[in-house]
Amino acid sequence: MYILVVNAGSSSLKYQLFDMDTQEVAAKGNCDRIGIDGKLTHTAAGKDKIQKDISMPTHSQAVSVLIDTLTDKEYGCISSMSEISAVGHRIVHGGPWLIKSVRVDDEVLADLEKCRDLAPLHTVPHLLGIKGCMEVMPETPQVLVMDTAFHQTMPPEAYTYPIPHELAEKYKIRRYGFHGTSHRYVSGKAIEYLGNPNAKIVTCHLGNGSSISAVDGGKCVDTSMGFTPLEGVIMGSRCGAVDPAIIPFLMEKENIPVSEMGNWMNKKCGFLGVSGVSSDLREIEAAINEGNERATLAFNVLAYQIKKYIGSYTAAMNGLDCIVFTAGIGENNSDIRRLALENMSFYGIELDEEKNRQRDVVEISTENSRVKVLVIPTNEELVIASDTMKIVSES
Ligand code: ADP
Repeated sequence: MYILVVNAGSSSLKYQLFDMDTQEVAAKGNCDRIGIDGKLTHTAAGKDKIQKDISMPTHSQAVSVLIDTLTDKEYGCISSMSEISAVGHRIVHGGPWLIKSVRVDDEVLADLEKCRDLAPLHTVPHLLGIKGCMEVMPETPQVLVMDTAFHQTMPPEAYTYPIPHELAEKYKIRRYGFHGTSHRYVSGKAIEYLGNPNAKIVTCHLGNGSSISAVDGGKCVDTSMGFTPLEGVIMGSRCGAVDPAIIPFLMEKENIPVSEMGNWMNKKCGFLGVSGVSSDLREIEAAINEGNERATLAFNVLAYQIKKYIGSYTAAMNGLDCIVFTAGIGENNSDIRRLALENMSFYGIELDEEKNRQRDVVEISTENSRVKVLVIPTNEELVIASDTMKIVSES
C-alpha cells in the first residue's frame, strides 16, 4: 500500500511516497517555485536524484508534475496513480475545529477555511495543495493531519491566556501549540524505549522553529508555542516569548506598521537578531569559534531557555523520567544539549559527555542518571502516512 504525504507551502509542494508494507520512503521530492518558474527535485529509492526546470503555474499543475514523475518509467517507482491508496496532508493549524486526523469532506474543508484567519500564511497554501490533489486524483481519499492536534489534551490552565474571556472566545485565542506530529512521534518512541507508558517526558524539538512539550503518560500537558508558532524559546529568526509591551513600544519608536511587525517578529529576531550573524545555528557556532560575543549570547539564550522549560515542565508534571532532543539542532548539536543540561544533577539529570558527542547514539545520559536523556530523529511524514493509512483502512 502506497501513501503520498504532501506538505504544501505558498510556492512549494514537498512530498514523500511511503510504501506502508515496509514503512520505507519509495520516493520523495519537492515541486518548488510554483507560480514563478517551476523547479522539480525528485529521488526514488535506489535511483539518482533528478532536478528539472518544469512549468508549474498552480498547485494543481505541481500535483500533475509529481504524479507524472512518480509514474515515470525512468525516474518513478509506481506504474499508475491508482497504486496510491490515499494522500495525507500536513496541516499547520487546525484551530479549535480540526482536533484530530480526519478524512477530507466538504465539512472538513469548511473547517479548514475557518483556520485562514488564525494562520493565513499556512492555511491558504494548504487549501491549494488539497484542492490540487482532489483535482488531479479525484478518486483518491485525502486525509488531514494537524500539527496542533497532539496538544489538544492540554488542560485549560495551560492553554488559557489571561486576556478578557469574551475576546478569547470571539477570536479563538488560546495556546494551540505546533510541531505536534513530531512531539507525538518522539514521545511515543521514548515510551517504547523506556518500556514505560506512564513516563513523564519533556520533548525538545529544536530546528529553525523550536518548541518544547511536556508529555505525561503519552498525553501533551503543556507546550511552548502558543496561539501561533512565535511563542516559546528563541528560534532561527523568530523572537519566541517576549514581554508583549516591547512590540507596541518598538512600533511607536521605529514607526513600524502592523503589516510589517509580523514579518519583523518572524524574520528579524531570534539567533539572527541577537547575533547579527545568521539564523542557522551552524553559522552561529562558527562565529562563536571566531570569538563573536553576540553569537555566544544567542547560543546561551537558547540553552538557558531550554533549561527553564525543563524545570517548569518538571514542576507541572510532578516529575521527570526522560528528556528527548530532536530536529535539526536537537539531533545534531551536542553543545546545546550539554549546555542546556549542565548543572541539573539536582533534577537527577546527568549527561554522558562522551555519548553526547557521538552520532547515532540514542541514550546520552549516564547509567546512573535518574532521568534518561535521549536523541530521537523525528519523522513527521511517517506519522502522517500512518494516520492516513489508519483512517482510510477504517472507513
Ligand atoms: P526546520 O525547522 O526548518 O525543519 P531543521 O529541523 O532542519 O529546521 O533545523 C535547522 C537547524 O538545525 C539549523 O539551525 C541548523 O544549523 C541545524 N542543523 C541542521 N542539520 C545540522 C547538522 N547536521 N549539524 C548541526 N546542525 C544542524
